[in-house]
Amino acid sequence: KLSEEDKVRSPICCMMGHIDTGKTKLLDYITGNVQEGEAGGTTQKMGATYLSARNILEKTMELKSDTKLKVPRPLFIDTPGYEFYTNLRSRGLGLCDFAILVVDIMHGLEPQTIECLNLLRMKNTEFIIALNKVDRLYGWRICENAPILEAMKQQTKDVINEFNMRLNEIINQFKEQGLNSELYYKNKEMGETFSIVPTCAISGEGIPDLLLLLVQLTQKTMVEKLITYVDKVQQCTVLEVKVMEGYGTTIDVVLVNGELHEGGQIVVCGLQGPIVTTIRALLTPHPIKELHVNGNHVHHEVIKAAECINIIAKDLEHVIVGTALHVVGPDDDIEAIKELVMEDVNSVLSRIDKSGEGVYIQASTLGSLEALLEFLKSPAVKLPVGGIGIGPVQKKDVMKAGVMLERKKEFATILALDVEVTTEARELADEMEVKIFCSDIMYHLFDQYQAYIC
Ligand code: GDP
Ligand code: MG
Repeated sequence: KLSEEDKVRSPICCMMGHIDTGKTKLLDYITGNVQEGEAGGTTQKMGATYLSARNILEKTMELKSDTKLKVPRPLFIDTPGYEFYTNLRSRGLGLCDFAILVVDIMHGLEPQTIECLNLLRMKNTEFIIALNKVDRLYGWRICENAPILEAMKQQTKDVINEFNMRLNEIINQFKEQGLNSELYYKNKEMGETFSIVPTCAISGEGIPDLLLLLVQLTQKTMVEKLITYVDKVQQCTVLEVKVMEGYGTTIDVVLVNGELHEGGQIVVCGLQGPIVTTIRALLTPHPIKELHVNGNHVHHEVIKAAECINIIAKDLEHVIVGTALHVVGPDDDIEAIKELVMEDVNSVLSRIDKSGEGVYIQASTLGSLEALLEFLKSPAVKLPVGGIGIGPVQKKDVMKAGVMLERKKEFATILALDVEVTTEARELADEMEVKIFCSDIMYHLFDQYQAYIC
């Protein structure tokens, strides 16, 4: 029988914001992954990280000596490389209980900040604003790990003036978007007015404040919401597909609710169709403090939400990142699940040119592929797409793109967004005269293509 404590699942927090505002850096700092990076232990890093209770206690000590967690430690999801893609951000946010919206104090609100803000409001997600990079203020005196008011006391008048000027400007920018915001320690109407925490992800000023606020937010608003213990998996998303030594192709997933069992049957989404397979092993990385046992994972027979898990199973090579994983229960209709799993991909496939005439596009995830398709369809571009691929460009992709050589030679090209091209694929492309364009920016891909056909 489950204890009351066991019934509460971990809250999930999403890092959001414009590119380069410091989302990853902040996450690394608050979860203590800094040491991990230095020890070269990055292989264990997943797209999601736990914030340990010890970390919270240590880092908030100066502000409050007895920060206790009534809910399990939060699980954080970063959005690596997803900066351009609304649909992926939206999916990541779909998993989250609350978010940290990161704003660069030197830049204020940027296009993706506003887009994130709109998503957050659309989904009615609670969030805290981290006003990051305060150390960039001219003349800032570093006060490592200091609560922000302590750090402020150490600054000159000029620094404080610049800080206030930029802060007020940003509060105004938020107001223009219809959002009230205020420094968290001046915020008297939590819920109505959003809290701003000034931070530095390099030397840690304001991090204790951010952590304390996170804990308070989760405890105040979340406890009831999180006691939704279910053993059936309702939401589980593939974050990453990766090859692991000795295990072959494996997937990292975020389990939002329910339980996963070793030996359980699952259905995941592949570009060629649904993949039905059996969980051979469920792994999680070792807790941070035991990181010196590099490469070791903890095996589990059962894992309950919320957790980021590495799943070992057969036939995972073609799984598409960003899609849902479904568990087949004893009473479930597997055919119905197979259809359900393919919904996302089918909606993308339905947008390819029916004649099959068009360029071939390749991206790392379904979300980025969707974004590229949308971009190429936009009135300013209007480039037909004849085929799609996900993951590194391989020989088979070149063969498919090569079909256009006899129909419309200018379409015998691959636009590869943020993916690698294998050596064999490159050789074959040269031989067949299929042109491959690579970039991690959609606009550049199109520019290259245009320069080529003109
Ligand atoms: P992301 O794109 O939002 O994930 O941003 P990153 O975490 O990758 O950070 C972008 C750049 O800003 C990196 O070079 C970081 O080292 C730097 N950076 C992040 N946070 C801070 C900060 O608080 N202060 C300063 N000076 N640089 C920062
Ligand atoms: Mg990042």
